[in-house]
Amino acid sequence: MTDPYVIEFSETGGPEVMKKVARAPRQPSAGQVLVRQTAAGLNFIDTYYRTGLYPAKLPFVPGSEGAGIVEAVGEGVSHISVGDRVAYLGAGTYSTHYTGPAATMLKLPEGISEEDAAAVLLKGLTAWMLLFEIRRASPGDTALVWAPVGGVGSLLLPWATAMGVRVIAVTSSEEKAARAKALGASDVVFSNTDVAAQVRELTDGEGVDVSYDSVGKASAQASLNSLKPRGWWISYGNASGAVEPLAPGVLGAKGSLVLTRPILFSFVSTPDEMRKGAAALFGALRSGTIQANIGQTFAMSEAGDAHRAIESGKTVGSTLLLP
Ligand code: NDP
Repeated sequence: MTDPYVIEFSETGGPEVMKKVARAPRQPSAGQVLVRQTAAGLNFIDTYYRTGLYPAKLPFVPGSEGAGIVEAVGEGVSHISVGDRVAYLGAGTYSTHYTGPAATMLKLPEGISEEDAAAVLLKGLTAWMLLFEIRRASPGDTALVWAPVGGVGSLLLPWATAMGVRVIAVTSSEEKAARAKALGASDVVFSNTDVAAQVRELTDGEGVDVSYDSVGKASAQASLNSLKPRGWWISYGNASGAVEPLAPGVLGAKGSLVLTRPILFSFVSTPDEMRKGAAALFGALRSGTIQANIGQTFAMSEAGDAHRAIESGKTVGSTLLLP
């Protein structure tokens, strides 16, 4: 078995700042569980902490989700036992072991592997938040989905189409366009063209009801200009950098648009919210509405290469780090 370690950085910067550091697992205190991790999901947010776009208290162990097998439980934990398979959101999952609160850990149902759980938990809950919690998607909606075959996108797109939403996908290459079509997109437009003009053409001049926008700085204007009056710009990511400030009057002038900038953790901060989201997510996985789509895996000790890959825009589906 691998000796315990974490991946840590002591200064912000490029992928090379992340170093493998030997570290013994922390024993669980009351209400906590110690997990030997099988897999950790890679998320774009991990790169924001590494570059300094989001503040991190140094030294910092990145990683926001993982799954594995319980090795020890702290005092007062009754619903999780040693040997259980669990998945969780948490801070510092670039590590062989993770110690965190039992209350928001999910016992994995049979038929869902630890790898699949680590691949979909954070990204699939994000798709659930976008489709059910912020603005309930309805049959007949037309939506713009940016980065449609990435980690979040490859779950959001088929889930939306299963709910009767017409999806116009925006992506960067022919290969990704073909994948977006296979996931259910009715149309695909390329991000290096005039997206809003093509959206108007595809919707008889009307525009879309909602733009699920994870690209940020580079997509902001196209999102705004693609919406119907009273349409929603759900700006949920910064893959190309943070969106420039915007005066509220712009939303009025373009037809009483709605702008929100959601963060998943506001939607799953209690055990009840977490269970609600997980029930929807695991239900969608089991029914085949969505699939885990693990596009690539990296040894956890090579986390820098994984960051290079996701930042280059070349990854598809979810990316796993394996301890
Ligand atoms: P992805 O797998 O979607 O990877 C990012 C994708 O963004 C790329 O593949 C590329 O897709 C697109 N992209 C466009 N411009 C750039 C650029 N300049 N550099 C790199 N990529 C670019 O990542 P994730 O699924 O992990 O995350 C998707 C987004 O969702 C991120 O912005 C993330 O921060 C956000 N997110 C937000 C959450 C929240 O709570 N608000 C929770 C989870 C994720 P293409 O080639 O198709 O354009």
